[in-house]
Amino acid sequence: MTTPTFTPYIKDGIELDQIIVQGIRMTAFHGVYAPEKESGQLFLADVVAHVSTRAAATRDELRRTANYSDIADRAADVLGGDPADLLETVAEHIARSVLEMEGVHCVDVVVHKPQAPLHVEFRDVMVKIRRDMKSGSLWADKRIGSSAGGSGDPFGAPPRAMDPADEQPLKPVMAYLALGGNIGDVDTTFREALWEMHKIPGIAVQRASSLFKTAPVGGPDQDDFLNVVVEVQTALAPRELLAACQGVEVLHGRERLEENGPRTLDIDIVAFGDLVLDTEDLTVPHPRATERAFVMQPWATLVPEFVVPGLGRVADIAAAVGSRGVELIAQKWPATQETPAHQE
Ligand code: ADP
Ligand code: MG
Repeated sequence: MTTPTFTPYIKDGIELDQIIVQGIRMTAFHGVYAPEKESGQLFLADVVAHVSTRAAATRDELRRTANYSDIADRAADVLGGDPADLLETVAEHIARSVLEMEGVHCVDVVVHKPQAPLHVEFRDVMVKIRRDMKSGSLWADKRIGSSAGGSGDPFGAPPRAMDPADEQPLKPVMAYLALGGNIGDVDTTFREALWEMHKIPGIAVQRASSLFKTAPVGGPDQDDFLNVVVEVQTALAPRELLAACQGVEVLHGRERLEENGPRTLDIDIVAFGDLVLDTEDLTVPHPRATERAFVMQPWATLVPEFVVPGLGRVADIAAAVGSRGVELIAQKWPATQETPAHQE
């Protein structure tokens, strides 16, 4: 997801500091069309509060500055709150709520709707507004139908990716996703999830592995899991792909209550082409995937010859890990021809 840059806000001749909370994610029901109100979709918000942090920083006191957790909570309340027809309304309400906080002189809000029902391929739809205390009125109010990021970003200098996890590949990359779940009708959840992934601009679901059933590893007493590995072609940056996976998990009610606990849907990026990277929120290849039979066995049915960067062929790793606790359920999955894999 590309975030526009934010111009400084000047108060009494001094450029204020910015507290930025990015990528607040919720499933919500905003939109004009009936299906949007019924089934909901992913919304994201970025909020920039323009404050003077000098007093707080000198004395290291939280109460002297706006608290980013409070900013995030206020934005999330609106984003996940009452359905509105327009993104503009959602952005406006977030701005008002954050402006109520003491010490906030101005706020920028971007609301993203990456799954908006458009008839063209697109990366994102966003509305960006700036509201300040002086009038509570518009200072700069730009909206666009689509932002492709990079040089197409109308909000200023093209964002420079500093972190390789944020760099979009120069040409499409094959990435492998491991899906797992053990609550509800998991087979159906997997199919829906693949379709939802496929609808996200920049992700084309290609093929799925055979379907496996797995005895749970660690965690509490719980039902068996279903596991599958899928191949996607993507033009997204690794972290954008992670956000997409997490967005689809959220659509299926994924809550992270307990480590290794039961879940409707877990989607991990097991490999992203030949990329090797290790950041706080994203490590590829997935550090534990190659130790897990429930990833390696399905993966080996899909691309046995694929070389996991730094670790070797999928088939060799799968043979080394073995297949204890992992049972083949369906060699050809999904059985029907309705899945995105067959539509390209
Ligand atoms: P798990 O998949 O280990 O059961 P989660 O799905 O809750 O647990 O993921 C925990 C964290 O792992 C996520 O917040 C995510 O940032 C991080 N993570 C690191 N690397 C990856 C990866 N390759 N794929 C998915 N998540 C990853
Ligand atoms: Mg996961």
